[in-house]
Amino acid sequence: MTKLHSIARAANDDLRARVHFCPETGQIWLHEHRMLLVHAEAQALLRKELIDSLGMDRARGLLTRMGYASGLRDAELARTRAEDCSDIEAFMTGPQLHTLEGIVHVTPVTLELDRATGKFYGEFLWENSWEGQWHRHHYGVHSEPVCWTQIGYACGYTSAFMGRPILYKETECVGMGNNNCRIVGKPVEEWDDAAAHMRYFRPEAIADQLIELQTQVVQLRSTIADKDKLPADMIGISPGFAAAYDLLKHAADSQITVLLLGETGVGKELFARALHDLGPRRERAFVAVNCAAIPNELVESELFGVEKGAYTGALVARAGRFERADGGSLFLDEIGELPLPAQSKLLRVLQEGEIERLGDHKTRKVNVRIIAATNDDLGRRVKEGRFRSDLYYRLNAYQVNIPPLRERKQDISLLAKRFLEKYSALHAKKLRGFTDKAKRALLTYPWPGNIRELQNMVERGVILAPSGSRIEVNQLFSSFGDDRARELGLDANGGLDGYHWESGEQLCAAVFNGVMTLEQLEVMLIQTAVDKARGNLSAAARMLGLTRPQLAYRLHRLHEADAGGGEPAPAATDGRP
Ligand SMILES: [Zn+2]
Repeated sequence: MTKLHSIARAANDDLRARVHFCPETGQIWLHEHRMLLVHAEAQALLRKELIDSLGMDRARGLLTRMGYASGLRDAELARTRAEDCSDIEAFMTGPQLHTLEGIVHVTPVTLELDRATGKFYGEFLWENSWEGQWHRHHYGVHSEPVCWTQIGYACGYTSAFMGRPILYKETECVGMGNNNCRIVGKPVEEWDDAAAHMRYFRPEAIADQLIELQTQVVQLRSTIADKDKLPADMIGISPGFAAAYDLLKHAADSQITVLLLGETGVGKELFARALHDLGPRRERAFVAVNCAAIPNELVESELFGVEKGAYTGALVARAGRFERADGGSLFLDEIGELPLPAQSKLLRVLQEGEIERLGDHKTRKVNVRIIAATNDDLGRRVKEGRFRSDLYYRLNAYQVNIPPLRERKQDISLLAKRFLEKYSALHAKKLRGFTDKAKRALLTYPWPGNIRELQNMVERGVILAPSGSRIEVNQLFSSFGDDRARELGLDANGGLDGYHWESGEQLCAAVFNGVMTLEQLEVMLIQTAVDKARGNLSAAARMLGLTRPQLAYRLHRLHEADAGGGEPAPAATDGRP
């Protein structure tokens, strides 16, 4: 013991001679390594911030590895001394450096080592542990040792010095309320619980882990949404939606055949699925068929199945959609497109609950709930002889009208928000919503493609908008990006207000659906012509196929209507005739 102390003292004197302060160059040297003299408190605050932001365990890993790195450097210095002194004397460089660097006062208690055989056992007393004292100051007494940087240093130093992995543990620690810290080190294999400690020496890509976790959260969130009792896209507060949904709920528990009516894209399949999910068949199959998508000659085999050899090419027997939906629900979209022979067979299923595969005379019982949908006028098809009247009355017993999106103004924001969440998750983007202009455009657009169009548009916006931003109008509406496209539209008061109608069809839809009046359309045309002609009325009249007096008359009429509080007039032009 006394011998160790005197070795330590000698090493200490030698090392002090190797420290050089060079104020002229702003450098401090320890032998050949540049050192820093930093404030212990600042270092302690950095340590605290690491713990607070990453948690004890991750911070412990970072600090341990930081200590390990400086232990490795000091071992280099120790090795330079190994040539002219004993192993023990050379080794003591580390503990003395640790002391000299102001980290902790190290006193060797037991030290047995042999570099030739790799034997190592060391026990040291640590006094004035910088790390233990600050940890206790910031966090109070801890249940485990806390001098992580220092343990890392001891491990790095000794492992490099010995040329084999040496693991240290604190048996006492100031951070645990002991007066001093005490450490014991021996080869990794000699510890029973080495693995639990060694993991702190392995670097972890924390940033990668965070991104990975974030992705997992987003995915989980979207699967939670998928497992909702109802499809997550079935949302709305508008009276039209509420009425349709209410009707749907009332039909759910019965077996009644439901006919869903609505324009293309209003979400008929979503309603059909909701009807299925709300009812007692929810655990069984939901099979959807778009009658318009199947060629006429294949409809029957698709729906009712086929026996081997029923027709050329029918090489194997195959069950149809009805059999696959047995016990569950079959959704027949665009039922108006069903050819007459298939209509008869469908009627038979509805009446008898029986089907026959094509090329088979055996009848099979099926228990299928039919949900039909169309955007067609089935009554008209009946009159034209293209749809069986008995089937029509059967289907028509319970109809649910799904309103178009333009009649669900209150739902547009809700749906847009829902799709934004959905597609942000899908495309792993973080977006802050929509710009005000984009919101307004969503509300004023006539939505000829209904919810499907809104959904596609929001997905487009999600893809185009940079992460962290809000989706802008031109990221939603493809033609907004075109500078030549004149933006025309109607504000809340019906005035013209910079909005671009994508096509003539949409413009017509806007008039048909009362979003815009014919007079407003006329105003829009005249306004556009006058603007394009830069206020030159003769040129504007030519564009409109009118004479100048005819245009002047119309303008006059519009101005008068405006003055009388009637129809809106064109926004001010530069006034040149
Ligand atoms: Zn400690």
